[in-house]
Amino acid sequence: MSTDLPYLRSYPASLQDQARDLLAQGKLGAVLQRKYPQAHAVRSDKALYDYAQELKARYLRNAGTINKVLFDNKIHVVRHALGLHTAVSRVQGNRLAAKHEIRIAAMFKQAPEEFLRMIVVHELAHLREKDHDKAFYQLCTHMEPQYHQYEFDLRLYLIHVEQAGTRLWGGDGS
Ligand SMILES: [Zn+2]
Repeated sequence: MSTDLPYLRSYPASLQDQARDLLAQGKLGAVLQRKYPQAHAVRSDKALYDYAQELKARYLRNAGTINKVLFDNKIHVVRHALGLHTAVSRVQGNRLAAKHEIRIAAMFKQAPEEFLRMIVVHELAHLREKDHDKAFYQLCTHMEPQYHQYEFDLRLYLIHVEQAGTRLWGGDGS
């Protein structure tokens, strides 16, 4: 009998087994906290916007404009595990302007900086690459070489939250 781990479905069975073992031993949360002891200090939508703009200026200077970046407590984490990138096209006078918004699940307001960076990098990469294809992930790892490791660990955290019902790094569930 083994726990189904939907967040890890696309990972090799060996990695899923490791996660199951940690979960069964009740150690998943502790392992994550030891690996990522500190929460980031991005406490507001304004700080998040600046954080995203800084990454964009460094790696994607010419990739269009982001109009809005915010923590969104309406994002249902199970469906949109990470964040949500929307490009809303609207007519402004005679020209069509794309309005880019990046929404990040509010639960990541209390999380390690590595997780936040991974999510922001993911959403920024969508400014240039629409699909989750090879070019997309190349761009992600260009912006953050540890992208895949952070995504895996973030998914472990989602499993921990679901199974244990508690947040790490000071999240109080609100
Ligand atoms: Zn995506």
